[in-house]
Amino acid sequence: MQIDFRSDTVTQPTSSMKEFMFKAPLGDDVFGEDPSIVQLEEETAQQFNHEAGLFCPSGTMTNQIALAVHTRPREEVICHKNSHIYLYEGGGPAFLSSVSLRLLEGDYGRITAEAIEENINPENVHFPRTRLVSLENTMNKGGGSCYDLEEIRKIRKSCQKHGLSLHLDGARIFNACIAKGYSTQEIGQEFDSISICFSKGLGAPVGSVLVGSEAFIHEARRVRKVLGGGMRQGGILASAAFYALNHHVDRLAEDHRRAKEMGDVLKHCEWIQFLYPIETNIIIFEVGSPFSGAQVIEQLSALGIRCAGFGKMHVRFVFHLDISEEQHQHAMTVIQNFQPQ
Ligand SMILES: *Cc1c(COP(=O)(O)O)cnc(C)c1O
Repeated sequence: MQIDFRSDTVTQPTSSMKEFMFKAPLGDDVFGEDPSIVQLEEETAQQFNHEAGLFCPSGTMTNQIALAVHTRPREEVICHKNSHIYLYEGGGPAFLSSVSLRLLEGDYGRITAEAIEENINPENVHFPRTRLVSLENTMNKGGGSCYDLEEIRKIRKSCQKHGLSLHLDGARIFNACIAKGYSTQEIGQEFDSISICFSKGLGAPVGSVLVGSEAFIHEARRVRKVLGGGMRQGGILASAAFYALNHHVDRLAEDHRRAKEMGDVLKHCEWIQFLYPIETNIIIFEVGSPFSGAQVIEQLSALGIRCAGFGKMHVRFVFHLDISEEQHQHAMTVIQNFQPQ
C-alpha cells in the first residue's frame, strides 16, 4: 500500500468532480463571458464578505497579484520570516513588485499586532515606506497553526491606525475556520484581500481565487493579464473548484481528526525529538540525532509511506482527501512499529 502524505496538493479529482467539470458552461473569460468562472468568483467573494473575486491558476499568482496591487515599488511588506510569499514564491515580491519584505519572528509562524507596530518604519528618507501586512492562516511552516480571531482583529486595528493594507494568504483558510470555529464571513471582513486555494485540501486540480473590493479586483485583473493568467474557457477548471467549495469543505474536519490521531502515535516515538502542536491537517516534527529527516523519509518510503522534508531534521505529513480511513489506520500501525536505522 502506498500512502502519500507529502502534500495536500497530490489529490486526484473525484469522479463526481470530473462529471461536474464535463457539464460546466464555458465562455471566453478574458471577455468576462465564462459563466463557471464568474460563478466561482462571486460565490467565493460572497462567502468571505468581499465584493469581488478573481480566478487564477495558482496561489502564488493570487498572492503576488495582491502584493502588486497593494504596493508601489520601494515600499515594504511586513510578514513572518517563514511566510510562503517569502520562502516559496521564487522571489516574486522583489521581481514583480520591487518591494522589500520585513521578516518577523513569531510563534509557529504567527506574528502579533505588537510586533507589527514595532516594525512599521517612521517617515524618514532612509526607510522604505511600510505599506502592507501579510498574514498566513493556516501557517504551512508553522505546522498548520491558526490565528485567533482576536489577534487578527488587533492586527487589523493596528493596520488601520497606520494606514496599512492587510492581506491574507489563505491557502488553507477553510482549515483554520473549521479548527477555530470562526466563519469565513467573520474572518473575511478583517482583510483587504484574501488568497484562497482550491488545489490543497479541497481537492480541485487547479486554481485559487483572490477576493477584495470591486476596485481592488479591477486592478488585480489587469495584473493577472500581464502575468499571462488570463485564461479563456477556464471554467472547465473553475467548475472543479466550485464543486470542491460545495462538497469538500466540511470533510476537512476528518483530516484534522486523523492528524491528531497520528499525532498520538508520533508522541510515543522515541526517535522524534519534537512534535509541533497539531491544529489542522499538517504535522511537522523534528527527528532526533543520530538520525536525519532524509533517513526517516527514505525508510518510511520503503514501507509505502511517503512524506516530505523541511530542512535537514524536519519532516512533514499532510492529510487530505485521497487518504482513506483504511490507509490512515495502516499508516499508524506502520509508524508505531517503525524505528529508523
Ligand atoms: C500552496 C500554498 C500557496 C500557493 O501555492 P501554489 O502552488 O502556487 O498554488 C500559497 N501559500 C501557502 C501557505 C501554500 O501552502
